[in-house]
Amino acid sequence: MMSTSVPDPRLKGRAVDRIAFSEQAIADRCRVLGGEITAAYPDGELLVLGLLKGSFIFLADLVREIERPLHVDFLVASSYGNATVSSGTVRLLYDPETSLEGKHLLLVEDIVDSGRTLQHLVTLLQARRPASIAICALLHKRIATELQHRVRFVGFDAPPVFLVGYGLDHAEDFRHVPYVASLAT
Ligand code: 5GP
Ligand code: MG
Repeated sequence: MMSTSVPDPRLKGRAVDRIAFSEQAIADRCRVLGGEITAAYPDGELLVLGLLKGSFIFLADLVREIERPLHVDFLVASSYGNATVSSGTVRLLYDPETSLEGKHLLLVEDIVDSGRTLQHLVTLLQARRPASIAICALLHKRIATELQHRVRFVGFDAPPVFLVGYGLDHAEDFRHVPYVASLAT
C-alpha cells in the first residue's frame, strides 16, 4: 500500500492512513474485468445486479466496460446487524422488478469479507431459476469461510483492514472518495 499525506477535503478532517487502491489502478482494473465479463457471456441475456449501497460506484464504472447488451438492477439485502450466528436466510428489502428466470445474473458486490451475505443471496436467487449466477467483487479479503461459491471476477485481493472509499463507507461517510483507503485511527 502507498502512504499519502495529501489532505483531502472529502475526509471530514480525518487523515487517510494509506491509499490501498488508487483511482487509476481501479480504472485500469475495471477495464480488464469488463473485458473478461464481455468474453465470459457470448450469448444470452445478462442482468447485472448491484448490491446496494456499497457497489454503486463500482457497478457504474464496471458496466461501462462491458461491451455487450445488458440490463442493470439492484438488490438491497437485510443486514445481519451484530448477529454472530447466521439466521440461515437473507431478506430482500428491495427485490429486482425484472424476472430472473433464464437470465445470466452477475452479482456485483463491493467487498467479500465473511462471505455470509453472498452465500445467502446466491441461495435465494437460485430459486428464481436463472440460467447462471456469477459473483463479481471489487475487493476480496480472502478470509471468507461461509461462501461456498467461487467469486469468479475479483478486482483486487484486499488487505485485512477496514477500507473506505469508492462506494465503501464508515457510518455512511466516505462513499464518494474516488480511491480505496484505510483510515488513520
Ligand atoms: P460479509 O457478508 O462478506 O461478511 O460482509 C460483506 C459486507 O460487509 C460488505 O458488503 C461491506 O458492506 C461490509 N464490509 C466488509 N469489510 C468491509 C471493509 O473493510 N470496509 C467497509 N466499508 N465495509 C466492509
Ligand atoms: Mg455491503
